[in-house]
Amino acid sequence: MNKKLIRIIVSAVLLLGAVIVEKTTSLSVWQLLIVYLIPYLLIGYDIIGDAFENLFKGSVFNEDFLMVIATLGALFIGFLPGAATEFPEAVFVMLFFQVGELFEDIAEGRSRKSISELMDIRPDYANVLRGDTVSKVSPETVSIGEIIMIKPGEKIPLDGRVLEGTSNLDTIALTGESVPRKIDVEDTVISGCVNISGMLKVKVTKNFGESTASKIINLVENASKNKSKSEAFITKFARFYTPIVVFVAIALSILPPVFSSDFAGTFSVWLNRALTFLVVSCPCALVISVPLTFFGGIGGAGKNGILIKGGSYMETLAKIGIIVFDKTGTLTKGKFEVNAIHPNKINENQLLHLAAHVERFSTHPIAISLKNAYPNENDDCKIENVEELSGQGIRARVNGDIVCVGNTKMMDAVGAKWEPCEKNGTIIHVAVNGEYVGHIVISDTIKEDSKDAIAALRTEGVEKTVMLTGDRKEVGAAVAKELSLDEYHAELMPADKVNFLERLIKEKSPKTNLAFVGDGINDAPVLARADVGIAMGGLGSDAAIEAADVVLMDDKPSKIAKAISIARRTIEIAKQNVVFAIFVKVLVLILAGFGIATMWMAVFADVGVTILVILNAARTLKA
Ligand code: ADP
Ligand code: MG
Repeated sequence: MNKKLIRIIVSAVLLLGAVIVEKTTSLSVWQLLIVYLIPYLLIGYDIIGDAFENLFKGSVFNEDFLMVIATLGALFIGFLPGAATEFPEAVFVMLFFQVGELFEDIAEGRSRKSISELMDIRPDYANVLRGDTVSKVSPETVSIGEIIMIKPGEKIPLDGRVLEGTSNLDTIALTGESVPRKIDVEDTVISGCVNISGMLKVKVTKNFGESTASKIINLVENASKNKSKSEAFITKFARFYTPIVVFVAIALSILPPVFSSDFAGTFSVWLNRALTFLVVSCPCALVISVPLTFFGGIGGAGKNGILIKGGSYMETLAKIGIIVFDKTGTLTKGKFEVNAIHPNKINENQLLHLAAHVERFSTHPIAISLKNAYPNENDDCKIENVEELSGQGIRARVNGDIVCVGNTKMMDAVGAKWEPCEKNGTIIHVAVNGEYVGHIVISDTIKEDSKDAIAALRTEGVEKTVMLTGDRKEVGAAVAKELSLDEYHAELMPADKVNFLERLIKEKSPKTNLAFVGDGINDAPVLARADVGIAMGGLGSDAAIEAADVVLMDDKPSKIAKAISIARRTIEIAKQNVVFAIFVKVLVLILAGFGIATMWMAVFADVGVTILVILNAARTLKA
């Protein structure tokens, strides 16, 4: 059982014992003090310790300090002439303060647990195949290119590519998605997923630090450091608030008696009010309300496969007015298929061969599809000087010839006389030494949930949806129409995308925010420039995970509306907490100042508010 809980129970029993002793015997005030000091010290020693430690560190005014002077005051007020003793009150204040802290620990523990469930993706070991033997090693020690074996039931320790075996992967910890993913030879697997059914032999493609699991763990661990504006406000507020309260309490105990005719007679009354005032003033509910709420919100979002990198992005997300999308890999699957090959002077196979070669080192979705379409790409042709011109295509030297693979902009740049194509889709043109040799038509499909995602965003109150793409006008128009987007702009270079974004930011009302959603390929600058950058990061690129503020683990655009609604709910709950805590506080402070609230009421007000605030904050976890 919880140590603190035991302490609370034992102290409560001792307090009861002390009250019985007081009622049944006629001990002197000094003797009573000693009897009550036993439960007081048992329940309060750590708080007293902390208060003094802070005193020596120079930060006097904190909640521990408030509690300690209030309770010490209550313990000693009985020694004043004419004043009643308040020993049980003193112990009780400490006791309830600890109950509040216990609740706080439990609530924080629960949010932490939901985040650490996410953290459950941390792999403990890898079965690495070295020579003929498989040995269990720490995943940090495995290097790129090594072979690892993953048995059913084990966590995938490092990102890699399947060499042998088929299986299903449980990705729920990463994506919140409970449907298992089918995995076959040549598929990539990412660390943090659990292998469900078959034995997999995997070639490691990233070392541990660069693997998805450790990237995500880092990201989540840093999320709580990224304080929201309201959290920063509360911290500042507490810094001014506590000293003010202490001075008001001192004034309250001294000034009225000084101005009354009977100083000695009224001092104990006012001191009592001042002490009550101090107990009420403890800002614990306020101090924990906001961070705990954001913490819960981040945890709740994480459960849904939405990683929000900090409370401040929660605030930005809640006020999104415009969403700008990248097309490829964001609204569309980014899995192109070759539909037609239209060669010029050379044959189909040769054209595909050249294109696949030039794309050998690229991770662009177009490159992957061309490589897939030409199975034996990795032959002994000599490929040198590869240069990727983002938004245009790729240029490389293949067996001595300069081969360009890309869109019409690229063809124009090298003076190749390209031919238009009547087919629907993205057209990849190829030129050899500036001479046009044909084009390949590839097409991509819209993600299943893109249409619903756009509709859901409208329901969430997003005013404008825009798509920016480097692809052809025809393709852009078709996608925009299918998804009923408000605007689209096609044939953009990465720099044009930044310019468009700047323009949209200038045009929008300053009260609303602009979000950019991308897959991180070619659009990291725009991700960074937007008020909030949302990346399709999960089962793909990792540049995106770094540039973005919010990462959607399962690449589903429909999660954006979910993220917005979680953010709004979290902010709403944080606001309720702050307003409620301040309202009750001020009310009881005034009552205490007028001597209407007793020490008992003060304790219940304080702890009661703290507990309600915690329970309210816990609602954010259930997104
Ligand atoms: P999007 O904005 O839709 O995500 P990109 O900016 O990544 O698209 O690319 C824009 C265009 O540039 C593509 O439609 C294609 O014509 C060309 N392109 C980009 N990368 C490549 C590549 N690796 N191979 C061939 N063409 C490419
Ligand atoms: Mg893209």
